[in-house]
Amino acid sequence: MNPVSYEAVRQIAVLRLNHPPVNALSYELRRELAAALDRALTDVAIKGIVITGTDKAFCAGADIPELGTPRAAQDPNIFTLIREIEGSRKPVVAAIAGICMGGGLEIALACHYRVALTDAQISFPEIKLGLMPGAGGTQRLPRLSGLQWALNLMLTGNPVRAERLMDTDLFDRVVTRDLIAQACDVAMGIVDADVPPRRTRDLRVDEPYAQALLQMARNTVRPRLKGGDTAAMRVIDALAASVDKPFEDGLRLEREAFATLEQAPYSRAMRHIFRAERSASKVDGVPADTATRDIQRVAVIGAGTMGAGIAMAFLNAGIPVTLLDRSEQDVQRGLDSVRRNYEATVRRGRLTEEVLRQRMAQLKGVTEYGDIADADLAIEAVFENMEVKEDVFRKLDAVMKPGAILASNTSRLDVNRIAAFTNRPADVLGMHFFSPAHVMKLLEVVRGEKTAPDVLHTVMQLARRTGKVAIVSGVCDGFIGNRMITFYLEQSMVLLEEGASPQQIDRALENWGMAMGPFRMSDLAGLDIGYTIRQRQYAQDAGARRSPLADKVFEAGRLGQKNGLGWYKYVPGQRNAQHDPEVDALIAAHFAATGRTPRSFCDEEIVERCIYALVNEGAYILQEGIAARASDIDLVYVHGYGFPRWRGGPMMAAQTVGLASVVRAIERIRSDGDACFKAPAPLLVQLAAQNKGFE
Ligand code: NAD
Repeated sequence: MNPVSYEAVRQIAVLRLNHPPVNALSYELRRELAAALDRALTDVAIKGIVITGTDKAFCAGADIPELGTPRAAQDPNIFTLIREIEGSRKPVVAAIAGICMGGGLEIALACHYRVALTDAQISFPEIKLGLMPGAGGTQRLPRLSGLQWALNLMLTGNPVRAERLMDTDLFDRVVTRDLIAQACDVAMGIVDADVPPRRTRDLRVDEPYAQALLQMARNTVRPRLKGGDTAAMRVIDALAASVDKPFEDGLRLEREAFATLEQAPYSRAMRHIFRAERSASKVDGVPADTATRDIQRVAVIGAGTMGAGIAMAFLNAGIPVTLLDRSEQDVQRGLDSVRRNYEATVRRGRLTEEVLRQRMAQLKGVTEYGDIADADLAIEAVFENMEVKEDVFRKLDAVMKPGAILASNTSRLDVNRIAAFTNRPADVLGMHFFSPAHVMKLLEVVRGEKTAPDVLHTVMQLARRTGKVAIVSGVCDGFIGNRMITFYLEQSMVLLEEGASPQQIDRALENWGMAMGPFRMSDLAGLDIGYTIRQRQYAQDAGARRSPLADKVFEAGRLGQKNGLGWYKYVPGQRNAQHDPEVDALIAAHFAATGRTPRSFCDEEIVERCIYALVNEGAYILQEGIAARASDIDLVYVHGYGFPRWRGGPMMAAQTVGLASVVRAIERIRSDGDACFKAPAPLLVQLAAQNKGFE
């Protein structure tokens, strides 16, 4: 189907963009729009032109997957289209319904007149990807909407309804119906009046307090910038040019600034994550048209920390939940914790009493498996112990209706073994939520070797319904996220054993961009968790790496935030970590007892060792096929582990540095830092040798 249709309505040519889902400015759309414009401009019977889209979208702007590729620049590009439209001697009117954003808005700004439906959504979202409008938007919008609106739209990136802009010159009419007829009417008015069309470029920005506004904007955004993001400052510079420079000079400044931003690591990383989120739902062997099972009711087994959070994740999406635990008291504890959580949200003004009541009415607590038999999905969140899991899965297998999906929230156990406890392994998979489960967006969906494609597809769709970012992982110890974090935490412990302090390690990684350093993170999770995992490893493997200092700190009765004493100390009820001299004393005693001298570290070395431990394990995970794409690994880290989005996740960060440099750094660490640092993954070595990235 041609993405642009052409219809002559008396003397007006109506060009309608129809390129689902949102009229992104792909090459095909640009080519057809240019052709339709040509036709309208050369047809002597046509006196005016209306450009419109669908009810859903006028135009959503650049085709993000095309950005940065030669296709994006291929003629006709957005600049040619804009030149043709603005230069037209026949009046061109944009008729706007639905989304009008980015490059789409820039096309509308180049039209001579604009008519919009009241609820059309106007936005310049570029800033969210570390970019700015790049096709004249910074020069044309302020000439129409005024400087203040231009600053607001470009610096927030948020959409604004057309009716809010009614008092500006951006729209000639804001209407509730008959959009096309109204737009044709505006065009005919100009034709009949026999006046030349009004070109936005010929207008002036009319703002007596421009300098003060610009200065205020600079003062507001400067302290908020992070990760080398300069987009906001460049937007302000370009808007300043719209006030006091000739139009062409402003355009040039905008174009140069855009080109710089487009190449900057910050924007590349933000675009990488944007694309990664869209490709994560594509799963090998599970075509998009795979049937799904109907999920109306969910059962959660285990009403502890995770069970209660998982229940809320579904209740928040309007899906009824039954919580099952061993005793009435255990169930009640779970129900109470859900209620308390909602009550706190009501106190913060983010939920109404009415919604709280509705959600609690959708939640039931039971102790008998018979009472959950008709659930469509059962998620197990009991103790992390294979015997307990076995007991639960055998019971589920016995009672659940045929076709029900059986999921485990295990953090590290073998999902294939769990599936084998049932007579329906095709219906079993892992759903690894992150704590708190109703808040954290990440869900690792663990695909067992027998998991059926429709089961996987159903859970991926369900994840979207509950607002989660779902990533498929194969079965291995710790799946993608926890398997990698083991090496990162281990490296932080090795640095500690060599003499770096917990504070220095945390500070180095937090300054680099991690939301929380490894020691603060361990305190949050509970030091018992790491201790238990280590003890299991010591027992299973005599050669396993030991972290005696971490063991001593735990054995000194320090559990982390839960008892106010971990690697730091905490005032009850507060979460900010305070330096604790008792930990210094434990560390000093440890060095004295082992007769070793602590050495000093620079922050760069700390960051390299911890982050490359993540990257290296990520590469092993990729080469083993546990993750299908490097970008899936990046999403796991950005959404589950506080990895800075603006670095694009660990794999993208490694690619930005260059994989060859990463391999060299790992070899250096192994030769004169930590001899036990895992050898670089063969995939990493191979890609580095070929001078390639992960994608
Ligand atoms: P928890 O101790 O807070 O809760 C476990 C609950 O399971 C308790 O309420 C307990 O009474 C109940 N239970 C135990 N045996 C049972 C049985 N046979 N039948 C019914 N209920 C039973 O533990 P948690 O932190 O919520 O962890 C639960 C699971 O989630 C574990 O597998 C854990 O590895 C995993 N997980 C935990 C986290 C986390 O951060 N806590 C994150 C992801 C996954």
